Amino acid sequence: MSTKIKTVDCPNCKKAVAWTEENSYRPFCSKRCKLIDFGGWTSERNSIPGQPVYPAVEDEYDQ
Ligand SMILES: [Zn+2]
Repeated sequence: MSTKIKTVDCPNCKKAVAWTEENSYRPFCSKRCKLIDFGGWTSERNSIPGQPVYPAVEDEYDQ
């Protein structure tokens, strides 16, 4: 039997994300992307669409 894992593209960084029960951040690849996207929702509404300005966050923030 082959186990097919559904993958989606992270809405924030477009990285392939495994859609699994373990991934509580789906459809995002990480907590960072989820938080960034969530924060962007409110801020982007008051700025120019299509020009998302994400803060440079290091990967250490993932955990
Ligand atoms: Zn991501």
